[in-house]
This record gives sequence, structure tokens and C-alpha cells, in this order.
Amino acid sequence: MTNFRKKTIKDIDVNNKTILLRVDYNVQDDNGSLLDDLRLRESMPTIQYLIDHSAKIVICSHRGRPRGQYNDTLSNIPVAKHLSKLLDRPVQFAEKALSQSTKKIISSMKSKDILLLENIRFYEGETNNDLEFAKDLAGPFDLFINDAFGASHREHATIAAITSYLPSVAGFLLEKEVAVLENATQNPEKPLGIILGGAKISDKIRILENLIPHATIVCVGGAIANTFLLAQGYDVADSLVDESFVDSAIKCIELAKLNNVNLLLPDEVVVTVGQGSENLIRTVSIDQIPAGWRVLDVGPSTINKFMNGLIDAKTVIWNGPMGMFEQEQFAKGSIEIANMIGNLNTPTSVIGGGETAAIANLAKIKDKVTHISTGGGASLMLLKGDPLPGIESLMD
Ligand code: ADP
Ligand code: MG
Repeated sequence: MTNFRKKTIKDIDVNNKTILLRVDYNVQDDNGSLLDDLRLRESMPTIQYLIDHSAKIVICSHRGRPRGQYNDTLSNIPVAKHLSKLLDRPVQFAEKALSQSTKKIISSMKSKDILLLENIRFYEGETNNDLEFAKDLAGPFDLFINDAFGASHREHATIAAITSYLPSVAGFLLEKEVAVLENATQNPEKPLGIILGGAKISDKIRILENLIPHATIVCVGGAIANTFLLAQGYDVADSLVDESFVDSAIKCIELAKLNNVNLLLPDEVVVTVGQGSENLIRTVSIDQIPAGWRVLDVGPSTINKFMNGLIDAKTVIWNGPMGMFEQEQFAKGSIEIANMIGNLNTPTSVIGGGETAAIANLAKIKDKVTHISTGGGASLMLLKGDPLPGIESLMD
């Protein structure tokens, strides 16, 4: 890898050092078993390298958005179990990422020991990028390694602030992602098509605003499309929307017009009412969403529309599921988009994001695309050429 500008794990002495390793193990589980373990598997080279060099390895990750509060559905316990299986060695677990007892455990670790900390976002200090929190956390360590590509676009304590207190370098995954993505997306060959979906409109709409002027065509699906439909005056009934972003959606639509960018929204959606197996499902036009129903997937006509729009693209970037794919009934749109990207004759196709990568895996298109990235927001920011806090803060 040639174009990585920062120090990496290869540039420092990790032998017998006590290391804080930040990874992105933000993965979903179903009753304790992980839905997709790409992010764990991709971190193996770094962990194995540290084991081979007799380091003491303390791993830190977030899961979901607990907003500074303990939440047992977002515990790292299932992650620890799975990691231990992948590594075929014991992984200790610290119930509190930061406490006197955890510091004691760390000080008694031996070479090649592995300890996974509980969800770091159980502390407000993490998302606040709190310096005191980072300093306290850094206490027992010699070095910090960032291998959390998927979180490196965030100004959070274990991505940014921590680097003020420890010598900080990149792990192999971070280095690889940046090298591959920069290669694939710097000065992207046009027409450039972007497909955006998922649920986190607060995160994605700003990135979208920045990307629109660079794109040729932008297809918006998933829950974030609901806010766009609302902005256009459609009644989306009980769908997931974020009303506080209606103005941003309008801005995106205007920006697209101004820049001659083709912004495509769903014209047909899959809607449901009721819960579990008691639910009713219908495919309807966006102007006929019945009161009390909610949109959980894009419909066939929307998929066709997106497909026709993207057919001539030379670069395609996809982040965010088209629907609530975790339920099979609403996975169709996402799987079809994955297959479409796999079958397009696009020279460069990049798929990124925790959930999006899981869909690519379900659809088995790995060999048909340029790259499947562990990061969604982070890969979009790289595409735009923006600096990522998690990379900028590492040693030169
Ligand atoms: P990624 O991790 O790939 O970047 P996000 O985290 O933004 O994607 O969003 C993924 C989530 O979006 C999935 O859990 C999926 O269920 C949800 N989602 C997609 N479409 C809808 C929808 N129409 N209604 C509710 N949730 C949705
Ligand atoms: Mg996600």
C-alpha cells in the first residue's frame, strides 16, 4: 500500500507493549449471534500481528447509539464470544470500559492476552470527544492503534481525542481501506452514480449535500427517502421520518437541480401495518400510502427506475439498505440493488457500510464488485476527498 500518508503499525515497535486497539465492531446480533462478521474478520490481520509480536491487546469498540447509557441489547458480550471463536483463543471481557477494576485487569495482562472492553458509547465522553475521558482511558497504555475505518469519520474520543495522549498509528484494515478507496474513488470516472439508503439521515444528509455537486445521478431509498418524500409533500403515514431534516432534504433537491444532477426518489414502495407474522404487506405508489401504514422497502418500479438511471455509470457507490432487510419480507429491494450493482458493467463499484456490506454478503456479489468496505459514512467522506478525523490525528 503506497498512498497512506500516516504512520502505521509497521512503523513502530509493538513488542510487549500494552496497546489500545480501536476497531469498529458495530454489528447487529440476533439473540447473541452476529448477523454478519465481516468487520471482525477484517480486523484479524492487525490482531494476529499484535499476537505475533507479543503485545498485550485491549480492544475497544462501540455498538449502536446508547447515548451514554448502559443498554444490555448493545453490549459487546456477543462480540467477545464471536471474536474468541474467530481467533481460536480466549478473549477476556471488561464489563466497564473505564474503571479501577478494568485498569487492574489491564495491569495484570500478559503478552498475547486479549481483552475486549464493553461498548465505549456507554460513556457520554466518547461521542463528546471528551479530553478528560480520553486521558483517563489512555492511562494504562503505551500505544494507540486505530483500525476502526467505519468510525474514522467521527470526531469521537477513541478516534480523535485519544491521540492527544498516546502515540497513535493505523492498523492494517484502516490502511487497506484508505488505499483501496482512494485508488477507486479519487477523481471518479463519470458518470458517477450514488445510491444512498439506510436510516441515519442525520449522518448522511450532510455528506449527501456535499456529494451532490460531484455526482451525475443520486438514488435515494431506505428510510431516508421517507424524509425526502415528505419534503415533496407526500403523506408517508407512519413511516420512519425525521421532520427536522425536511429542510435539508429540500436543499438537496434544489442543489441537485442547480447542478444538473439526476436525483431519483422511490415512486413505488412496500408498506406494512401490524407486527410480526400478523402484519399485512402491500406494494403501493408513493401517493397511496394508507393511513397507519409504514414504508419498509422500495417497490419493483423504484428498483427499475434506479437501474435505468445507473446503467451507463462508470463509477457506482452504494451505502445504506433500501429497506428493513433484517426482515426477509423487506429485504427484496436491497438484495435486488446488490444484484444490480453486481451485474452492471461498471468499471468501479464500491459498497460500504456495516449493514450494506451484510447485504452484499447475502447476495454473494463479492467477486463482482471492486470493493466492499467496512465503512459507509467514512467511505462517502473519502469519496468526497474530505479529511477523516481518525486518519488526520495519527502520527505523520
Ligand atoms: P449502513 O450501516 O449500511 O451505513 P444505516 O446504519 O444507515 O446503514 O441503516 C441501516 C438500517 O436502516 C437497517 O437496520 C435497516 O433496517 C434500516 N432501514 C432501511 N430502510 C428502512 C425503512 N424504510 N424503515 C425503517 N428502517 C429502515
Ligand atoms: Mg449501520
